[in-house]
Amino acid sequence: MTTFADLGLSPELLKAVEEAGYTEPTPIQAEAIPAVLMMKDVLGIAQTGTGKTASFVLPMIDVLASGRRRALMPRSLILAPTRELAAQVAENFEKYGKNHDLTMVLLIGGVQMGEQVKALNDGVDVLIATPGRLMDLFERGKIMLNACELVVIDEADRMLDMGFIPDIEFICEKLPEKRQTLLFSATMPAPIAKLAKKFLDNPKRIEVTRAASTNENITAFKIPVKTREKRETLRWLLRNDLVENAIIFCNRKTTVRELNKSLQRHGFASGEIHGDIDQNQRNAELQRFKNNEINILVASDVAARGLDIKGVSHVFNFDTPWHPDDYVHRIGRTGRAGAKGRAFTFVAPEDAEAIENVEKLTGSEVPVFGKKDVRVELPKAQPKKEGPKQDDSEDEQDEKPKRTRSRRNESRDDDRQNDRAPRREKREDRSGSRSGGPKSGNQSRRRDQDDEPVPAGEWNGPKPDFLGVGFN
Ligand code: ADP
Ligand code: MG
Repeated sequence: MTTFADLGLSPELLKAVEEAGYTEPTPIQAEAIPAVLMMKDVLGIAQTGTGKTASFVLPMIDVLASGRRRALMPRSLILAPTRELAAQVAENFEKYGKNHDLTMVLLIGGVQMGEQVKALNDGVDVLIATPGRLMDLFERGKIMLNACELVVIDEADRMLDMGFIPDIEFICEKLPEKRQTLLFSATMPAPIAKLAKKFLDNPKRIEVTRAASTNENITAFKIPVKTREKRETLRWLLRNDLVENAIIFCNRKTTVRELNKSLQRHGFASGEIHGDIDQNQRNAELQRFKNNEINILVASDVAARGLDIKGVSHVFNFDTPWHPDDYVHRIGRTGRAGAKGRAFTFVAPEDAEAIENVEKLTGSEVPVFGKKDVRVELPKAQPKKEGPKQDDSEDEQDEKPKRTRSRRNESRDDDRQNDRAPRREKREDRSGSRSGGPKSGNQSRRRDQDDEPVPAGEWNGPKPDFLGVGFN
């Protein structure tokens, strides 16, 4: 077994790593750290949550420990696609670099430029920047890149999604010819491969798992649902799948907002992050989630990109993402660094094409969530915060805004069928033992109240209709 000590890091650094609580390098760390220490260019491809940050931050600290800084000319540069990600890299530098005398400047939008410029004047060892802000300062002549001999392009595929590739190219062209370049990405779409070919010199290619394959710590399912059943299905899972905390991804900002409101109406402790929410508020919301004041975060892709949120037990794709790469990023929020996680993807008719693309990209079919996958050990205390009836119908309405009369007639049976599960669930919540009901509705949701013996491994709670596909 490889240890951090085997990788050639300095004793001061090993001490900081130990204090951070890491006992064993992740596979990408085990491969990248020695290569970076040997001053090689590195092309690192590993899925989200595999510890890519430390795989460059740790060796960089040792590489930068020798040498001295000069005003306006940062010695190294790390490019990250979003402010949140840049800030996370900075946190890593602070954590691991505490036994070293290195100065770091974080150059991100939404922060006063004056302070940043002043810090640059004093000389920096590590400049961590988003491309936009860096271009801004560069064009004003406030920064010079010709002493930057160590460059990291982090989360390159996100850079691509966000349209930063021209900026990256511009920046790379201002860098000294003789330098060390490291590029990290969860996936390797063609434009990134091209970028790497252009700016990396004979790199060591480290591919920890197949690009876009997913983590074995993540149990992923898809659930075929009707569009209007998504909320109800989600609520059922939130209550019955032993959810500790969850991120719920939606494709649109409006869906994020509406879903969050709906969840709150139903008594869930949820919050939201999306592009329309300003940076301070986003950070505050994230902090509430990290502090466990809320355990559900409804998010859009841009807002949640790469955020390091530890120990998320569940990820829900309320919509199947349009870009299959986003699927990998989204579900990568769970199952991080060895912890097990569950990921559910809702597939309504309009998601059919998107899920096909996901399965093409990952090279395997996402299994359909079925009876055998239901977790029977329900938590003892169910939160009985179900909203009033009134709310539910309100909710139902905004779930089906475009339903026409004929559509309703056509699908009437379906509708009744679909309405059954949650009502029954609620009634049982109150009475605990209601008998009758068309479809095994007499079974209690708690095992200890059962009359009939239940075969081992059989789900004995109310059978949610969305599981129809998997049952029987
Ligand atoms: P990536 O950039 O690959 O998505 P991160 O660098 O953000 O992943 O790391 C993901 C999580 O794993 C972070 O919470 C980090 O603290 C943790 N982590 C990183 N390296 C290790 C390690 N060697 N052992 C345990 N946890 C680690
Ligand atoms: Mg990362």
